Amino acid sequence: MDDADLSQQVEQAIIAAALTNRKPQPVSPDGICIWCEDQPIVANTAFCSAECGVDYHKYHRELRQRNSGD
Ligand SMILES: [Zn+2]
Repeated sequence: MDDADLSQQVEQAIIAAALTNRKPQPVSPDGICIWCEDQPIVANTAFCSAECGVDYHKYHRELRQRNSGD
């Protein structure tokens, strides 16, 4: 997998998440993935990989569902 493929995967994951959540997308303040906080981000995203983007959005979705319970 080359950088272009990776970038495209992340982009698609972010777009899918954006369509689902309809919220502003997160940005990385320091160029490091905001989910794993370990790897440099892919350009124009806040994540190092599609997996991190998906996990981030899944986590926040579950958090919101849990909080809206009571
Ligand atoms: Zn990451």
